[in-house]
Amino acid sequence: MTVTVMTGSASGMGAATRKRFERSGDKVIGIDIRDAEIIADLSTHEGRAHAISSVKQRCKALDRLVSCAGLATYARPVSLIASVNYFGTVKLLDGLLELLEKGENPAAVVTLSNSAQWVPIDEEPYFQALLRHDEAEAVKILDEAPDAFMAAGMAYVGSKLALGRAVRQRAMTWGKAGVRLNGVAPGNTKTPMFQKILDDPNLRDGVPNMEIPLGQLNEPDEVASLIAFLCSPEASAIHGSIFYIDGGTDALIRPDRF
Ligand code: NAD
Repeated sequence: MTVTVMTGSASGMGAATRKRFERSGDKVIGIDIRDAEIIADLSTHEGRAHAISSVKQRCKALDRLVSCAGLATYARPVSLIASVNYFGTVKLLDGLLELLEKGENPAAVVTLSNSAQWVPIDEEPYFQALLRHDEAEAVKILDEAPDAFMAAGMAYVGSKLALGRAVRQRAMTWGKAGVRLNGVAPGNTKTPMFQKILDDPNLRDGVPNMEIPLGQLNEPDEVASLIAFLCSPEASAIHGSIFYIDGGTDALIRPDRF
């Protein structure tokens, strides 16, 4: 039986992916702050360590790891966005690699965002702190920022861009370990996260009013379908790649970059 560990399994894309795997008869071990087999707060060192040790107690080998846990710009303190989206995700990837190495056709997928490259952020001290993997400094910069609204936008975009780089930087080590690692970069998707943004007048106005060439928002199950494909043996040559799933929005905004 295929064994999958998933973060963010309680809601949205994570819940949709979970359903998809379970329909195929897979065993899914969810990690979430609520409604999951393993309850863990991935914003904290203790929560991450608890998640990793709980997975190790439950299985000796892992076939798939899917990371969907994430927070958007509504999160306060703002630093939670960096701690969950980037530091928590990377810690789990690295902490569970040794189990994935023992799995069958092992693969991991992390959830990024199509917006990760729309804002120049490379030179920002916050982003540099992410690249140095300096969580204390990243947290300090975000929580001391004079404008929490602006800081939240930077926190989110930076967390996803740094996570995409983390995926690509691991191509050799993970490839040599026999474990494929890829990212999906969704556009706006009909999940509780997106609804929470739409329900808040301040945040709603901050959502880029982007045209979607295909004319509609993603359904969570459409993202789940891409994740499931990337995890499957049919994707055996795909590794270190980022897949946009946004109805063509990123292509519209950055037609010359891919
Ligand atoms: P969601 O809010 O529906 O689900 C996110 C899950 O993460 C929830 O189950 C939540 O409990 C869990 N989570 C949050 N904080 C946590 C913590 N500290 N520890 C453990 N678990 C925690 O969101 P979604 O829309 O399904 O988003 C899934 C992923 O896709 C996220 O990483 C998000 O950033 C990304 N994304 C979403 C959209 C969108 O429009 N919905 C677009 C681009 C990228």
